[in-house]
Amino acid sequence: MSYFLSYSDMLTEDPTFMSTMGKPCPYCPKLFPTNWKLNAHILTHTGEKPFRCDTCGKSFQRKEGLKKHAITAHLLDKKTKETIRLSFI
Ligand SMILES: [Zn+2]
Ligand SMILES: [Zn+2]
Repeated sequence: MSYFLSYSDMLTEDPTFMSTMGKPCPYCPKLFPTNWKLNAHILTHTGEKPFRCDTCGKSFQRKEGLKKHAITAHLLDKKTKETIRLSFI
């Protein structure tokens, strides 16, 4: 099984996928397939990086960083773009 998935694939919260391969978050019941995803998620609890991308869950310390990420990482997907726009309201 490959980990080289698209952002939309990684976003899929398929219950089977999440339960069969998951590292539990110490702060909430969520499970993550990889350590780096879990660590990135934990930062959303600690508040170190309060600006979280609604599309892929990646967090940023500055709103500018999130905005730049949103454009570079998700600009291609029209539907995703809409989500990003909404998240900035
Ligand atoms: Zn959590
Ligand atoms: Zn993102």
